[in-house]
Amino acid sequence: MRALTCVFALMIGAAPAWADEVAPVVVDAGHGGVDLGARGVNGALEKDLTLAVARRLAAELRARRIPVVETRTKDVFIPLVERTAIANKAHARLYVSIHANSAPEPEVSGTETYFLSVDASDAEAMRVALTENDVYQQEGTASDSHDVVGSILGDLIRTEHLRESSDLAATLQRGLAKLPAQSRGVKQAPFVVLTGVNMPAALVEIGFVTNAAEVKRLGQRDAQTAIAKALAAALVEAMGQTRAAIPASGEEP
Ligand SMILES: [Zn+2]
Repeated sequence: MRALTCVFALMIGAAPAWADEVAPVVVDAGHGGVDLGARGVNGALEKDLTLAVARRLAAELRARRIPVVETRTKDVFIPLVERTAIANKAHARLYVSIHANSAPEPEVSGTETYFLSVDASDAEAMRVALTENDVYQQEGTASDSHDVVGSILGDLIRTEHLRESSDLAATLQRGLAKLPAQSRGVKQAPFVVLTGVNMPAALVEIGFVTNAAEVKRLGQRDAQTAIAKALAAALVEAMGQTRAAIPASGEEP
């Protein structure tokens, strides 16, 4: 099945025979509305870049007959916990959250993919998670970052998909590594938007808006499409890998 899966993944635009049978993939466009996300050096906003790539990714998946649920399709604010609630309500097969990165150093660039962990891979991964969790504090659902990590710990203990999430992150990052951008690898950190989901989940950082060349490229239609196609192929591959675990229709995942 794995060899077949690879063939499917290479057939861009082709729908796997099993595509219609599976639960949906949730595509989460990071930020939105009053939550701008990171601000690019050219004025571009993370919330716009994530929506553009997420919408293209959803289209690429639907072209492969894979059902998709989008957490947002326009510039609206959606609380982090509502995003995970949407995924759980949909009994989604996989959950991918699309984000763009930022760093104090303007030369830093590239893609990276995260899965949930209480302990961050390193200080840089923790900084990214705290930045992405920032809106959670603004939602008034936690009083300080300690509460955020504490609530994540509680959810993490109930999470049964860490291994699959790690595999999903690796597959997604392998796809991104084929793009003309540096691959910064798979990392782990305590992201609120990944907590409490009842399915394998990963968060993709498609590039740095603080790097002038990269943010310019991320704003271009061709680059957005290339990212979407890479992620769609990777998701098809990931779904094939876990096909044996796909629940029957109507069954709890
Ligand atoms: Zn973000």
